[in-house]
Amino acid sequence: MRIKFDTHTHTLASSHAYSTVSENASFAAKIGMDGFAVTDHAPAMPDSPHEWHFRNLKNLPKELFGEKILIGAEVNILDLEGNVDLDKQLLKRLDVVNASIHSQAYSGCGAEDHTSAYEAVVKDPHIDIICHSGTPDFMYDYEYIVKLAGEYNKLIEINNHSFFVRSSSIRNCRRIAELCKKHGTGIAVSSDAHFFTDIGNYSKALDMLYEIGFPEELVMNRTYESFKEFMEGARGKKLCSWRLETC
Ligand SMILES: [Zn+2]
Ligand SMILES: [Zn+2]
Repeated sequence: MRIKFDTHTHTLASSHAYSTVSENASFAAKIGMDGFAVTDHAPAMPDSPHEWHFRNLKNLPKELFGEKILIGAEVNILDLEGNVDLDKQLLKRLDVVNASIHSQAYSGCGAEDHTSAYEAVVKDPHIDIICHSGTPDFMYDYEYIVKLAGEYNKLIEINNHSFFVRSSSIRNCRRIAELCKKHGTGIAVSSDAHFFTDIGNYSKALDMLYEIGFPEELVMNRTYESFKEFMEGARGKKLCSWRLETC
């Protein structure tokens, strides 16, 4: 399976990452990708850019070196009520809104069950993708949330980076993917790249998906077109609608 649109990438704007949008785009072109979404950390993370970063993303071109560039954010799920850290009016304008729990920005740490946080996020119309949710510290009712995500046309992310930096989540990621297969819930496979050479790298995630016989048609970001079709059809969003006319 080839996945040509990367839905979760970072740039220098999150100071824990080390490449520019141009470097990411140039490498993506070199390896034959369709494009990627720029999704830096929203302001509750210590390494994140100022909120103005997100308000000004409309300046990015829709296409660079032949690569489709979507603008977005990786917002932080802040609490067990599923509040997030960018305002709704701004989220409405972004092409791709990834939502993640990071312990550094989450007041629900220590709770045994995080289902309420994920349920609220799945039901939040501004969120598109539930990211790296296999972390054992933030367990939730996988079957209930995966099924709900399908009903609300939300994607569950299978994050390649987790296989390296969150290895304790691997077993849970597999379980989550199996449940997506069982319930027909769409997924996005992402690199969560922090350096340009990692753009489009899904090696471990793909190995796992092959092992469980995951159906290709449920991977919504196989190509830019398949992702666009999902976002503009099921999600009812218009991609690139906020970009400046001059771009
Ligand atoms: Zn993250
Ligand atoms: Zn990330």
